Amino acid sequence: MGITLHGIGVVGGIAIGRAHLMSHTEVDIAHYEVPANQVQTEIARFDNAVRKTRKELEMLWGSIPENAPAELGSFLSLHIMILNDATLSREPRHLIETQHCNAEWALKQQLDVLLAQFDEIEESYLRERRADVVQVVDRIFKALAGQAATPHLPAAQSENTIVVAHELSPADMVLFKDGAVTAFVTDVGGATSHTAILARSLDIPSVLALHNAHQIIEEGELIIVDGIQGVVVIDPDEKILAEYKRRQQAFQQEKRRLKALKGAVPTTRDGVAIELQANIELPLDMPQVKANGATGVGLFRSEFLFLGRETLPSEQEQFFAYKEVLEQMGNLPVTIRTLDIGADKMPKWSDHSTFANPALGLTGIRLCLAEPNLFRCQLRALLRASHYGNLHILIPMISSIHELQQARMHIELAKQSLTDEGIPFNRNVKLGVMIETPAAAIMVNNFLKQVDFISVGTNDLIQFTLAVDRSDDMVAHLYDPTHPAVLYLLSQTFRAADRIGVPVSVCGEMAGDARLTRLLLGLGLRKFSMHPAHLLNVKQKVLKTDLVEIQPIINKMLKCEDPEKMRDLLEQLNAL
Ligand code: PEP
Ligand code: MG
Repeated sequence: MGITLHGIGVVGGIAIGRAHLMSHTEVDIAHYEVPANQVQTEIARFDNAVRKTRKELEMLWGSIPENAPAELGSFLSLHIMILNDATLSREPRHLIETQHCNAEWALKQQLDVLLAQFDEIEESYLRERRADVVQVVDRIFKALAGQAATPHLPAAQSENTIVVAHELSPADMVLFKDGAVTAFVTDVGGATSHTAILARSLDIPSVLALHNAHQIIEEGELIIVDGIQGVVVIDPDEKILAEYKRRQQAFQQEKRRLKALKGAVPTTRDGVAIELQANIELPLDMPQVKANGATGVGLFRSEFLFLGRETLPSEQEQFFAYKEVLEQMGNLPVTIRTLDIGADKMPKWSDHSTFANPALGLTGIRLCLAEPNLFRCQLRALLRASHYGNLHILIPMISSIHELQQARMHIELAKQSLTDEGIPFNRNVKLGVMIETPAAAIMVNNFLKQVDFISVGTNDLIQFTLAVDRSDDMVAHLYDPTHPAVLYLLSQTFRAADRIGVPVSVCGEMAGDARLTRLLLGLGLRKFSMHPAHLLNVKQKVLKTDLVEIQPIINKMLKCEDPEKMRDLLEQLNAL
């Protein structure tokens, strides 16, 4: 039949196997009165269920294999902690005693109270822990009903097992040990869910947020999980199957080859050292940064802490997120970009209306300067975090020196407020600007005199230089990173930075496109920052490049006006 479902691809790779539906039976929650002389027996029944649940969780914890990701242990400990908390293990006893209700009803009432408290929480990580409380309570309900809480996997079979579930808890994922499960898909789950975090550390193909996969897919059905594209194909025909088998093999071969490069120092064949850093959106991207051997975070798009939520993140919440990334990187540089919202990234809590040309509106630094409280809150969080690592602050969407000066003034005010409060921070934290508007690229010399570093945002620089909307399919063919105007601006920017001795990097998509690595090297770039998934690919290209050898073709490219010829030259460059 070949039905295709789309969700969030969490871990890359392709798996082909038989579906195993993992279901959690729903328990009906009865409500009845308990006679006064039975109250103590009912309390004992509740205590027994809690004890049984604790034993189960501890057993699961004890059976975590040595090679399992560390998160699995911590998430299970969290469930044990939730269970042991008096609000769950003691409060329902009190309700049974005072209301003479059955244990299930007492537990349900207490769960409702706890969930209402969770709904009040603003901080997204804590709010997500609501699911953990529900999962633990679900186990107690099952223990009260005398049902098994842990679903079972089918006995070892010749074909790969792909788990299909509405939702998975960390306890369910203990069963995925020792390769028992090849891939999994779920109906629910967001980017910060425990399921997503565990998926990343287990490193098996997975697609979340498929909405109704659990209802559509049948037990034993052949399915393909494509974690790269976030796609699940149910009951594929021979042709599709053959194509995915081919892609699977190619992916695995390439992954093996590239993995061997993780520890290699990125140096060109003629001995020039190149820096390869990673772009991240949230602290939970960090395992990927490390797994791919990045030597710094070149762009932390902080706006992702602000998106997809009803309210603003507090200074404290931001501080924890920044500190976590800085601590994980030790002495290596971490470049955190201040809020870059607006245009396609307008959060729910913002009341700024969208105009006909949102990309030319109140975005990036413009919005921050228009909302000084918002900006100051972020700057305080950043400066506080600077005490814990090697922080670089990066200002987005700058188009005039005046904006840089105003941003600097806000940083000074934030520093002063921290000093007044006796809060430690790094007084020499580095400050840089994004070069992503033509104005900033043309006037780059002025900026270079006033900053510690610059980072070129090619995504926007191409969009604004060529007047081509980066997200409009209709003009996608005109969005050309090798357009002469783009190459001219890039080469001028790299040369100016080199002359003045200010570090320059590229953090737009061009930096992660291995077909453009030699071109950027030839134009003078020595520092790249990209999605961690591209890092080893780019490193491979760096290792195979001789800067002297590529120069004649680069010179021709800089003089080339014809797009067709430019494509030829790029091919020649990559064929060297
Ligand atoms: C860029 O514009 O190249 C960039 C890195 O920023 P963003 O993609 O977040 O706009
Ligand atoms: Mg940009």
